[in-house]
Amino acid sequence: MSFDTLGLHAALSRAVADAGYTEPTEVQSRAIPPALAGRDLMVSSSTGSGKTASFVLPALTKVLAARGDGTQRRDRSAPQGPRILVLTPTRELAMQVAKAAVDYGRHVPGLRVATIVGGVPYGAQLKALRGPLDVLIATPGRLIDHMESGRAMLANIEMLILDEADRMLDMGFIEPIHHIAAATPKTRQTMMFSATFAGHVGRLAEELLREPQRIDVSSHTEAHADIEQRLHWADDLEHKNALLDHILTERSMEQAVVFTSTQRDADWLADRLADMGHHVASLHGGHPQGRRTRVLQGLRSKQLKILVATDVASRGIDVPSISHVINYGLPMKAEDYVHRIGRTGRAGRAGLAVTLAERRDAQMVHRIQHFTTQRIPAATIAGLEPKRVEPKPFARTERPAGKSFGPRPNGRPFKPAGKTFSKNGPSRAPR
Ligand code: AMP
Repeated sequence: MSFDTLGLHAALSRAVADAGYTEPTEVQSRAIPPALAGRDLMVSSSTGSGKTASFVLPALTKVLAARGDGTQRRDRSAPQGPRILVLTPTRELAMQVAKAAVDYGRHVPGLRVATIVGGVPYGAQLKALRGPLDVLIATPGRLIDHMESGRAMLANIEMLILDEADRMLDMGFIEPIHHIAAATPKTRQTMMFSATFAGHVGRLAEELLREPQRIDVSSHTEAHADIEQRLHWADDLEHKNALLDHILTERSMEQAVVFTSTQRDADWLADRLADMGHHVASLHGGHPQGRRTRVLQGLRSKQLKILVATDVASRGIDVPSISHVINYGLPMKAEDYVHRIGRTGRAGRAGLAVTLAERRDAQMVHRIQHFTTQRIPAATIAGLEPKRVEPKPFARTERPAGKSFGPRPNGRPFKPAGKTFSKNGPSRAPR
């Protein structure tokens, strides 16, 4: 399928061509036509699938339609408020969406895009809200602040988009989302993107959407076909560090995001890697926005080779040269594993996702495999094999209740044996 068949405005087709995209991704080809036809949508689509364009392009179509044939002048005296509102869980994701809106909107005359996110000064945001605005991208908390002070005007919203709705609800934004939606016209078009529509996300969808079309392109199993996953069992912290050090010096390593479970671990590990001579920085929710922007810039310009991050900080990182995602500390939730590994394998490139697990992480590893319905192949590095043949196979009672995990190859129990490989150079002496 080509972009021409989607019925996009010429200004948008040109921008898509400028970006070098010749074919729409699956979510784009399935979501864009009904979105252009004015339908409400519930979309499940994994990160890296091109979902941003699938809502940004229809949103910009509305902006272009409002521009008419170019003869109408905007009444600049009246504060107009945006036509499009995108809500995202994090600042990084908001910035990412804003970048996409500006990129795809490069041929839209006089396009005005603003972001309203927490952790940055109010001044520039107030200025942006005072001027004419087409697209507003916001995190719910800060937008509520501006609404309460009467600065954010949502009466002209024609399209409301909730990106990563499940994540926003996990972060406790249910009330702000209701409040924000209630301030927009009932006639608006609404699109909701979420990994799942189970539970409270489904209920929110019922409340906000009208006869929505459901589009699901992200069976967890199919997701991340370009990402090779690998599991290394570590005996202890020292062993885990040795494995990490080896992987970070593999020749195929272009850039890596190393995940830790806590902010403290992120800072500690970044210091340790910096001491070893790596170009590395940490990124977590405790950092001010200025630093976060600089760090992401450093990653994009390749001045940084390694980013040590926590889950919250990782949302919205879209750097195609990230070749490795390394789980140094396991995530708290299985679905975060999917979001983490989605930082690599971007834009059709291959990626490697390595999980370094200690024995105490066995339960979480199991939950991740249950969630993705995929076994993460265990691997060892020559000279750095685990000494213990652990963890023990899971007993039935240790499995989460309900669904079974599915067949294991050869029906053998889950154990840390796997292929041995020594990718580059001489293998190490045993520790
Ligand atoms: P997203 O899932 O929106 O975060 O997009 C993932 C990546 O795919 C981004 O780097 C986009 O620039 C890229 N992308 C979006 N649409 C296409 C397309 N039709 N063809 C190739 N790459 C795309």
